[in-house]
Amino acid sequence: MLFNGYEFNLSLEELTDIVENKTREIELIGPEDETYQALSEGDKQALEHLIKAASIINNVALEQDHPLNRSFKTAFEKKENKTPLEEKAYALFLSFNGVAGLNGIDPEPIEIFKGVHTSKGKNFYPANMSVDEFHNLLISMLEKGKIDEVKKILSNRTMVRLRGGYLQAIDYTDYFAYEFSKIANELELAAYYTTDHELKDYLSWQAQAFLQNNEDMDMLADKHWALMQNNPIEFTVSRENYEDELTGTVFENEKLKKLLELHQIEVNPKDTLGCRVGLNNKAGTELILKSKDTLPYLAKLMPFADRYEQKIEKNAKQTMVDVDLMALKGDYAMCRGGITTAQNLPNDDKLAVKTGGGRRNVYHRQVRFSHDSEREKKLLNLLVDPQLHPYFKSQMRHYFVIGHENGHSLGPDSSFKNALGIYAHTIEEHKANTVSIAFLGKIAETFGTYTPTELKEIYTTWVISLFLRSKPVISKPHRVADLIEFNYLLKHNVISFDGENKLHIDFGKIPTVMYRLLEETIEIQLSKSASKAKEFIDKWSDWSEISEYIANTQKQLGLKPYIRLITKF
Ligand SMILES: [Zn+2]
Repeated sequence: MLFNGYEFNLSLEELTDIVENKTREIELIGPEDETYQALSEGDKQALEHLIKAASIINNVALEQDHPLNRSFKTAFEKKENKTPLEEKAYALFLSFNGVAGLNGIDPEPIEIFKGVHTSKGKNFYPANMSVDEFHNLLISMLEKGKIDEVKKILSNRTMVRLRGGYLQAIDYTDYFAYEFSKIANELELAAYYTTDHELKDYLSWQAQAFLQNNEDMDMLADKHWALMQNNPIEFTVSRENYEDELTGTVFENEKLKKLLELHQIEVNPKDTLGCRVGLNNKAGTELILKSKDTLPYLAKLMPFADRYEQKIEKNAKQTMVDVDLMALKGDYAMCRGGITTAQNLPNDDKLAVKTGGGRRNVYHRQVRFSHDSEREKKLLNLLVDPQLHPYFKSQMRHYFVIGHENGHSLGPDSSFKNALGIYAHTIEEHKANTVSIAFLGKIAETFGTYTPTELKEIYTTWVISLFLRSKPVISKPHRVADLIEFNYLLKHNVISFDGENKLHIDFGKIPTVMYRLLEETIEIQLSKSASKAKEFIDKWSDWSEISEYIANTQKQLGLKPYIRLITKF
């Protein structure tokens, strides 16, 4: 039996197991939320339009991700009286927010339909174009003097197609002209209704950015967005480039790399759009804001701080909010082996940051609160020395995450980081983790933020979060980073496992060992060498017996690698 012209790749039994046994739910807030109820009528109306905009942005992201996503979405929505197989397949489609995805456990993507595969270049690039073909086309275009066209092809805001034997870049504002004009309309309406002047201002700029083929408009929108600190409504259009695994490969071709350098062509992977709508949680935001004072202090403590410029020293333009989520769409809703708990935007490749604009850090409360405490207890019993059990507190992970997000604002700038090509994200995520842990002790000492017991709780909870559920693949930078740190701690006797495979931690060693790791990591970013980055990652991401033992133990406890977002608006 065919669905939208394709056969299902998974049986009813497999799909039922995924949807009923292996999916965890994250419940977003609904209209009963007290903060929502207290909003003015104007702000409630504004939110209606922002949520509509989010749905359209979701369609854009679906198109960017896979050429068949939207036709399958429509087929699922239109099909009345779905069979059980179709129901379950639809649930998995919604979880991936697409036709396929990694689940964080299996090394290959899970594909819902037979013959419908994902590719490195997603739908940003022509289907079936090989990496070599891509490189050769770019070389031939550069040799023929098509410099400006190659610049556009390697920019983060174009879709690329094959036309007349050459690659052609189409700006998002042209490719998505229909969707972008509808999004802009919704944003203008929201701007009209909201009673928050800063939000009104930002939304007007953001609407313009959707309408004009002009990176400066994105920059202006981003700059207004990044300043919002005390605004009741949270609205974000995210542009992140983790999904595109093709653009970064240009650095692996020596000839192409030299030509790109010669013509000073900047290389940025493609942005997938995401959209977040929610409400600022005042108490949560106050707690996070306390960490802001540490940034200038940490910037001075960073290794080799004299060899790069940290934006944080010039301007402490960093806003931070803790948000109750109403909707996550587009990139945010592509739950493929995980979901974002917090995010610090704009990223370094964006004009707003390059021209001195601030950044905004948003923490996702409902994602953070979703955990399985029964399972955590079992895991402790199987893998952790009983003396450490009292120090494991899942809520303490939040403090590690705060340090991680702040860590992205510290260290060498994007010109260094991006030069690492396909390894850039892994090194950057790993750096952020390392910054977070390396400086906790200093922060506690200098700012009195944490008691000695709280420090142990943060350390313990973090170390246990490094227990992986499977050998990570390079396209999951956060997990590879976890493995690097796990191995480094093990090698330097900060952590050890006894005869019963139970974890022990030598707390005293953590600050010095993690600082040394941070030095090694910053050196790699400063080297601008993709091969050094690869060497470092290979060296420290060895999958050892103890990692295999931990992963197997995790699997015995049952894994829920899939996520269902329960959205009430
Ligand atoms: Zn990060």
